[in-house]
Amino acid sequence: MKSTMMSAPLSISTLAEHGAAYSSDRAVVTKTETGWRTAAYADVVARARRLANALEDLGVVGDARVGTFMWNNQEHLEAYFAVPSMGAVLHTANIRLTPEQIAYTVNAAGDRVMIVDDSLAATFAPVVPLLTTVETIVVSGTIDDAVFAGASQRVVSYEDVLAAASPDREWTVVDEQDAASICFTTGTTGNPKGVAYSHRSIMLQSLATSAVDALRIGNNDTILVAVPMFHATAWCYPYSGFWAGADLVLLDRFLAPPTIVEAIETFSVTFGNGVPTVWNDVLRLLDAEPDHDLGSLQRLVIGGAAASESLFDGFADHGVDVVQGWGMTESSPLVTVGRTSRGVDAETARRQRLTQGRVISGVEIRIVDQETGEPLPRDGETIGEFELRGPWIAGGYLGVESDGPADKFHDGWLRTGDVGTLDRDGFAKLTDRSKDIIKSGGEWISSVDLENTLAGHPAIRDVTVIGVPDEKWDERPCAVVVVEDGATVGAEDLRTWLVGRVAKFWIPENWVFTTALPRTSVGKIDKKLLRGQRADGALD
Ligand code: ADP
Repeated sequence: MKSTMMSAPLSISTLAEHGAAYSSDRAVVTKTETGWRTAAYADVVARARRLANALEDLGVVGDARVGTFMWNNQEHLEAYFAVPSMGAVLHTANIRLTPEQIAYTVNAAGDRVMIVDDSLAATFAPVVPLLTTVETIVVSGTIDDAVFAGASQRVVSYEDVLAAASPDREWTVVDEQDAASICFTTGTTGNPKGVAYSHRSIMLQSLATSAVDALRIGNNDTILVAVPMFHATAWCYPYSGFWAGADLVLLDRFLAPPTIVEAIETFSVTFGNGVPTVWNDVLRLLDAEPDHDLGSLQRLVIGGAAASESLFDGFADHGVDVVQGWGMTESSPLVTVGRTSRGVDAETARRQRLTQGRVISGVEIRIVDQETGEPLPRDGETIGEFELRGPWIAGGYLGVESDGPADKFHDGWLRTGDVGTLDRDGFAKLTDRSKDIIKSGGEWISSVDLENTLAGHPAIRDVTVIGVPDEKWDERPCAVVVVEDGATVGAEDLRTWLVGRVAKFWIPENWVFTTALPRTSVGKIDKKLLRGQRADGALD
């Protein structure tokens, strides 16, 4: 039997118009060189309508792709609304990849127009000669003629094309399964792979993550979008924030801890987010400058890499509730959120909060044996690979005709490549990525747990643990450590610190002390590079 309900699609244009109509005065704040600039929701959407008309004038019709090469700022948000709402597809290019990788993603997505921040023009310049599909480059800010002198593309100014465009726009009625935006994985293994999110998947992710038992995003929030808008739709915060009518604070290229703290204090930010490194640096700043007032900040969601206990505790001292989230590009990205379950004692609550979180209603999770693919029990002890299924989980990759490669998809489920345990209440505890697993004498050592335990040592600024070949045990852990300025600590001190905190056979005998850890394009520690350096004898 068919329902009697309307079949109105879930669409980003609905979100845009809802925000413009009912939260018209809410603010979108962007950091500038000299201060902050603010626009009301209604203005942002009015400019998004103009942008859509301008893009149409530039030849963007149907489901043409429009790329962005931009920081988190108001213009990027305008593109977030304009492009999907006109039925076209937004591709948020990752500004931190190599020129070759960036060109690969732009060409694979088939971007016709690229919108580029002027502050990124020089970074974009080496990409330009490698582009095969881009006809027009729209520069947000000032056009530097020297940078684009050799470009075969038409180069126009964002503000000029907006000024020339009509302000009136009827949004295109989309099929909710149509692509709204494209994001490529960061390509730590092979070429980046493209994921095309649908209007439906974005709307469902935004609504599900806003719920009270997830991130509690509401009308009273001021959200600092500290995760990059060029990766995984900034965890959908621009959309979930807009849906709720929250104020949005965007940092543009000013990502240093003092600017983050200034943003929190100036705009009374209630909700922050990001990878652990960013917020560890903020904690360090707060330790050094204790007069800062973080009183407004209620919640911080940490994801992208494991949050250590010391990060939870450090922010608890400032009255901030840290919640962990887990997910990946292919899962929109959030799948679990670390909210504790009802009626548990304090000890259980703490344990639950230190997991990667509890699966959000609407998606399915299971663990399977990595070798056989057989489902494993949800007992909180058995270790297997997490697999995902649901309306905001990718079922394939862009341009791949089949159901996708077998190492990525299995029996209608997405293989995450993350390994850990799942308990009966749906809490997922990640022990490792499968490519980072350390197997010593047939037993697994969790690099994530080792890292978290070491991160609790007061003299450690940054740490990672990689597996290195070992004649007797096949593999042993090697800790790569960055020590706090002015602190002195040696391998023996750290080994002593680990005694009683982790299993004895986990304690590394390989220690490397260095000044900084290499990061990937989205700010995670690049273990692959470190393993390569170790194999080449460059990391001793
Ligand atoms: P890439 O896969 O290219 O590194 P993603 O942003 O998609 O880029 O990264 C997803 C991966 O990040 C996950 O598969 C997982 O390994 C890791 N990750 C994400 N959130 C967490 C978390 N809270 N704890 C531990 N690892 C995490």
